[in-house]
Amino acid sequence: MCEPRMKNCVALITGGGTGIGEAIAKLFAKEGAKVVISGRRSEPLATTVQAIKDADGHAVYISGDVSSMDDARRMVSFTVDQYGWIDTLVNNAGVIRRTEKVEETTEEEWNWLVDINLKGIFHTTKFCLPFMMERKKGAIVNIGSINAFLAAPGYATYCATKGGVVAYTRAIALQYAKYGIRANVISPGMIHTPMAYVDRPNFEELVDDIVERFYPIKRVGLAEDVAYAALYLASDEAGWVTGQNLTVDGGFSIK
Ligand code: NDP
Repeated sequence: MCEPRMKNCVALITGGGTGIGEAIAKLFAKEGAKVVISGRRSEPLATTVQAIKDADGHAVYISGDVSSMDDARRMVSFTVDQYGWIDTLVNNAGVIRRTEKVEETTEEEWNWLVDINLKGIFHTTKFCLPFMMERKKGAIVNIGSINAFLAAPGYATYCATKGGVVAYTRAIALQYAKYGIRANVISPGMIHTPMAYVDRPNFEELVDDIVERFYPIKRVGLAEDVAYAALYLASDEAGWVTGQNLTVDGGFSIK
């Protein structure tokens, strides 16, 4: 039997109660990681932890908001208290909101998206780095979006946050490589998660048409498609890969 790919890894996954984060948490736990998931709502976190435990995995959760520096500090120290160290951080928590016209976008709307999608990554990374530097080992996987590279009308603020994630990831990768820390970003296309319904409550009715028109691989993306990419980037198999973007989009961006 193959060794589990994340044996002895301790992973903090933000937004781990639903969607992509949930799939990453379950896959990492299946591959031997001890997993801590975080998010604002306790209920989905508790459900995901129970599912992991039912499959004989190790998982705990802590609720908190990544846009709060204090909450991010708590998430990281909770992880270290629970499992002794932290060597894998998946910055997956994120939100989307149509901001339509830039001239009508409010400061509150801008701040909300930036504070969660971008500043949240700064917060968790800031508190994880010292622990990773101490052990000379760390893998940071940030979940961006193809909207970092491909513009979406009505989503300028969201696009800006995801573009920032790519630039931030590269800067962290360069600065912390000497400490054995790698940082990479995954840019997903349309993935069938709760987020897909945010500005499209009738997503089910639209999805076939969207796939037909835009996706060379003729199916919608699944959270597991992103989870397998995260598993590779977090594992030692990607030991010589840092500062990179891995697009997971069914071919959307090659056209
Ligand atoms: P979900 O809405 O299912 O997941 C988002 C998760 O983030 C939720 O579990 C949510 O939990 C958590 N979260 C949101 N805000 C905060 C916060 N302030 N603090 C802590 N946790 C927070 O959607 P996805 O799984 O699709 O999204 C995951 C990531 O993937 C996001 O970064 C998103 O931008 C990105 N992505 C998604 C795509 C898609 O098509 N689905 C495409 C490209 C990128 P809670 O609400 O309880 O806090």
